[in-house]
Amino acid sequence: VGGHPKPQEGPMKPSGVKRILAIGSGKGGVGKSTVSSNLAVALAKAGRKVGLLDADIYGPSQPRMMGVNKRPASPDGKTIIPLQAHGVTLMSIGFMLEEGKAVVWRGPMLMGALQQMLGQVEWGELDVLLVDLPPGTGDVQLTLCTKSELSGAIVVSTPQDVALIDARKALDMFATLKTPVLGLIENMSMFVCPDCGSQHEIFGHGGVKAEAEKMGVPLLGSLPIDLETRLAGDSGTPVAAGEGPMAEAYARIAQGLIE
Ligand code: ADP
Repeated sequence: VGGHPKPQEGPMKPSGVKRILAIGSGKGGVGKSTVSSNLAVALAKAGRKVGLLDADIYGPSQPRMMGVNKRPASPDGKTIIPLQAHGVTLMSIGFMLEEGKAVVWRGPMLMGALQQMLGQVEWGELDVLLVDLPPGTGDVQLTLCTKSELSGAIVVSTPQDVALIDARKALDMFATLKTPVLGLIENMSMFVCPDCGSQHEIFGHGGVKAEAEKMGVPLLGSLPIDLETRLAGDSGTPVAAGEGPMAEAYARIAQGLIE
């Protein structure tokens, strides 16, 4: 850890990891990190060995959402021991950055950081490693898709047109890079008023399902706007770690990824 990461040659798939699944979005703020942390926790609850790599270079959220933030140990100065939270083995680019400092890295430095997080981190034996990508279609996505033997990608979007337009670009990128898209997840699909129970489709209706149908990929799940989800994320214990309808919704999506 430390210093400016430099890219190295060679593959980036850790040897004990069975599957790497990337979670991407077109736009930021659609809930990609929230979905990543909750899916990781739901998969761990289902008995899978799960890793979560927070590669969102511009806004690493997992230290906050998973409730751990410290520099991982590196006993020999080479290998990095990941942290553990809620049954998930966790590494975040945020652990390696100074809080409040912007990342102004060029492509090769980004690649170096990614290679460190994949190659030098002691991931151990994992059934699945989820990668929380930065939004959009930049260097990190390109590097991961071409160098890390991704098993597949999941795209998170809200039903809003501006989010869907960008989600389409992310889907197009995965198609171009020949990364199989396992499906779309619709987040913030609707809001149920806690007082009267009426439903409000704040970001629109049906767009993600229509997009999934158009692209011929499954809609893996629809998640409502939910206060508990937001509070849980902010408090460092993802909602999927508890009980209730949201935990069940994430368990169902996780089950779909296992089968
Ligand atoms: P991204 O990773 O796409 O930038 P985040 O996961 O950081 O998005 O989510 C953005 C904000 O929205 C966070 O404050 C998060 O707590 C909140 N959020 C995400 N999904 C939901 C949801 N289904 N209901 C309520 N708040 C949500």
